[in-house]
Amino acid sequence: MVVSSLQHFLNTCLAERRAQQLYRQHKLLDTAPAPVAVVDGRELVTFSSNDYLGLATHPEVIAAQQRGAELGAGATASHLVNGHFHIHQQLQDKIAEITGREAALLFGSGYMANVGVINALVGRGDFVVQDKLNHASLIDGGRISGAQYLRFAHSDLTALETQLQRARKKNDGKILLAVDGVYSMDGDIAPLAPMAELCQKYDAWLMVDEAHGFGVMGSDAFPCAGSAAAAGLDQEAAPIVMGTLGKAAGNGGAFVAGSRALIDYLTQFARTYIYTTGMPPAVAAGCRRALELMQELPLRQRLQQRIDYFRQRAAERGLPLENSTSAIQPLLLGCEKRVLSVSELLQQSGYLVGAIRPPTVPAGTARLRITLSAAHSETQIDGLLNALATALESAEAAV
Ligand SMILES: *Cc1c(COP(=O)(O)O)cnc(C)c1O
Repeated sequence: MVVSSLQHFLNTCLAERRAQQLYRQHKLLDTAPAPVAVVDGRELVTFSSNDYLGLATHPEVIAAQQRGAELGAGATASHLVNGHFHIHQQLQDKIAEITGREAALLFGSGYMANVGVINALVGRGDFVVQDKLNHASLIDGGRISGAQYLRFAHSDLTALETQLQRARKKNDGKILLAVDGVYSMDGDIAPLAPMAELCQKYDAWLMVDEAHGFGVMGSDAFPCAGSAAAAGLDQEAAPIVMGTLGKAAGNGGAFVAGSRALIDYLTQFARTYIYTTGMPPAVAAGCRRALELMQELPLRQRLQQRIDYFRQRAAERGLPLENSTSAIQPLLLGCEKRVLSVSELLQQSGYLVGAIRPPTVPAGTARLRITLSAAHSETQIDGLLNALATALESAEAAV
């Protein structure tokens, strides 16, 4: 049989990926990690999930989600047709309360929220300014919008100001500055307060992606709101906040929070909100219970204690920690092969960590992405560090 040009193209690309040690495969899980999961038939303590508060497997969340399913398995239409239920509205109100914003709007995922918001706000003739390490969904949203894309070195305020000046000099149109609040692969936090000042100076609009900030950090008044609140930024200083419900909330979906006018505008103009089926009501019900538990239980404090414990014990062992105070604790090993062999050795010892390689991170910065959760015990953290020390030694010996 003649191999079609499509098959030839696919096979060539796949072979290249394999040769570069960049080929990726699924792992099959029986249940969500709590934090132990059966992965490909083996019990593993998981340090790769974004379920920072352990809410994905909380019995009250699961019960609320089961009851929510009685409203119907699916929303049956988009939110603006007949797919918007009371439970969606209640979840939006809860998000507005937690984030200290006037209103919130639900999206199918964080990816869709970022693409939808950027495209609704800017287009040809406008500027979108982005940190070099921004999440793919912000970058893609900017590209699709047709706005001129200006990027700056990671969290570099001088480089950011240069780009804002450039954009301002060219016209008096719209400038959107989009940044991750907490960087997903490094765990460091953006300098949001000085960024908000620069936005004021150049009349740029600040959009903060709270995928890894929502639920785990905040201010005294809004302890679960995220990194913008932690930096002391209110609705005026950080007018566009995107948060996901698939990370600390342990579920799925996302939201944008802001002024009543922003939410009304996005309801009318965000294409990824309008042209897609509404969030299943059960998901909304599970999320609402998770957000209540986030407010009621001392989960953030427990997570912080685990982060401190991990960093202290890892430092005692001389592990190369990065400058992260969040639940994301990367170990940069540089070379893809080394990352893969260490993560495989860890898996053999019963621990699952993320092996993160390009193009998810820049070339030469392949890393283990260790994520901590309030659900981890100190014993599990000690076990990981022991296994890690052994795995790093064997990988060293093999090189
Ligand atoms: C995970 C993530 C997203 C995407 O959210 P999903 O709901 O998973 O689509 C967006 N931004 C950042 C920084 C993320 O880490």
